[in-house]
Amino acid sequence: MKILLVEDELDLGRIIQNSLNQEKYIVDWFQDGDLAWQYLESQATQYTLAILDWLLPGLSGIELCQRLRAQGNPLPILMLTAKDGMADKVAGLDAGADDYLVKPFKIVELLARLRALQRRSPQMQPQQLQVGNLKLDFSTSTVTVQDDRGRPQSLFLTNKEFQLLEYFMRHPNQILSRDRLMNQLWEINAETISNVVAAQVRLLRRKLGEYGYDKLIETIPGMGYRLNPPS
Ligand code: CA
Repeated sequence: MKILLVEDELDLGRIIQNSLNQEKYIVDWFQDGDLAWQYLESQATQYTLAILDWLLPGLSGIELCQRLRAQGNPLPILMLTAKDGMADKVAGLDAGADDYLVKPFKIVELLARLRALQRRSPQMQPQQLQVGNLKLDFSTSTVTVQDDRGRPQSLFLTNKEFQLLEYFMRHPNQILSRDRLMNQLWEINAETISNVVAAQVRLLRRKLGEYGYDKLIETIPGMGYRLNPPS
């Protein structure tokens, strides 16, 4: 699941991005409101959540929030700000923010607020996904499969394999192009090899193959990939 972060303080942005990466989120981080808006407007990427700093070069967090809501975009928004007066809080919420965090804050609090927003976000439902006897639980970051005796066995996936499997499980029976997978599962400025999507799908397939799921993700030549739930 991808999060949009707009924060111009480099140290803070880096800490937030790293912490979210550890929680298996993918983060597109912008340091400028105008640039973030250009990207949001292009709609090349679907975000699950946005974290917007209030004061930014270019458009402010409040202005970004207002523009998104004016377009009817329901993206859950958490505002970050150094302001903590009641009038500012009201202004943030009036602009359409869903929640509000005053700097300085602890990362654990940010993560807790995001989990709360995520529980209310339709895009993040359900938190538990299943195909066949393969189960992925986003809230605990685990993937398990039942063995012959019905006992759950954990699959040890890298972050990227987990994110890829989650995305496929949220979009079963759909052909997902390489471009779409790239936009949704890699950060915008990620430096990657040219065939990174194909390489990651191969790695994931190999792990799934150990549990009899080597045919779960099918390659559709010239178009992309599709998860075919076992009948
Ligand atoms: Ca700022």
